[in-house]
Amino acid sequence: MICFDYLEPESLAEACALLKKHGEDARPIAGGTSLLIMMRQHLLMPKIVVSLEKIPDFGRIVFDDQEGLRIGAGARHRDIELSPLVKRHYPLLHETFRKVAQPRIRNMGTIGGNLAAGDPLTDPGASLIALDAQVILAGAEGPRTLPLEEFFVDYYETALKPGEILTEIHVPPPRRPGWSHIKFTPRSVEDFATVGVALTLAVQNGSCQDLRLALNSVASTIIRAKGAEEVLRGKEVTEAALRELGEVAATEVDPMDDNRGSSEYKRELVKVLVCRAAREAVRRAS
Ligand SMILES: Cc1cc2nc3c(=O)[nH]c(=O)nc-3n(C[C@H](O)[C@H](O)[C@H](O)COP(=O)(O)OP(=O)(O)OC[C@H]3O[C@@H](n4cnc5c(N)ncnc54)[C@H](O)[C@@H]3O)c2cc1C
Repeated sequence: MICFDYLEPESLAEACALLKKHGEDARPIAGGTSLLIMMRQHLLMPKIVVSLEKIPDFGRIVFDDQEGLRIGAGARHRDIELSPLVKRHYPLLHETFRKVAQPRIRNMGTIGGNLAAGDPLTDPGASLIALDAQVILAGAEGPRTLPLEEFFVDYYETALKPGEILTEIHVPPPRRPGWSHIKFTPRSVEDFATVGVALTLAVQNGSCQDLRLALNSVASTIIRAKGAEEVLRGKEVTEAALRELGEVAATEVDPMDDNRGSSEYKRELVKVLVCRAAREAVRRAS
């Protein structure tokens, strides 16, 4: 039997104070899709579970031409997938969120819980990194902002300090019109990705002005492939350059052998899928 106290603070300040007060004994819960599995498997055994459900506006999604998109950490995957604002201004996010798990999980799981779990197999992180997203973290000492790519520290480890809550994801106005998201799942579309690729780029007069490439399921964290980006940034977009992009990306990953495939197989997939994603993004940008 699992025993714990369940607390339901009604404000962010109250939630932060409770987490500070109870320290290591406490853990926040949002949709519970990941935390409850961890608790059932006795991987995490919090004595106090602090619900984020009653924090006002915790799941709001707002967009402004100057500021971009602000997604409350409590927004559920399905809310983001179905948001007309997201669909219109950030098609990459719409495409990504519609591929997360299956509707039952998308109706419960939140973006905050997804990122805070620090699971490298999950999808939204790579697309958000490709869109230059930042995360806002709040603790008893006040808020701080981090680029999302610095938030993922190691396998199931993030930059969240004990007692901190991820409150918001900020995505600036889209800077690069070309985009692509590939979630390679040969076993079932509802499975975690064997390899995930998210890419945004801008092309002018046949040359790549700028790009961002991020990958999931190929290392201990979701990663940005900065070396590969340099292959194309400022260069003419040719088929050879796109192939080189994939080849360099494959040198930046460190996949594990698991039931989805060997590390060699995944590295080969990175080569092929990054090139394919870039081709699609160039087509959209042109
Ligand atoms: C069957 C299944 C299939 C899945 N498939 C996919 C998939 O294909 N792609 C994919 O991307 N994901 C997938 N997932 C993962 C899913 O997206 C996450 O479980 C979900 O997003 C977690 O959100 P949650 O609100 O349920 O988090 P919770 O389970 O409530 O919390 C997860 C962790 O984050 C912490 N936490 C929660 N919110 C915050 C916050 N705001 N600030 C700080 N810490 C917080 C909790 O303490 C806990 O450690 C799958 C999960 C399941 C169970």
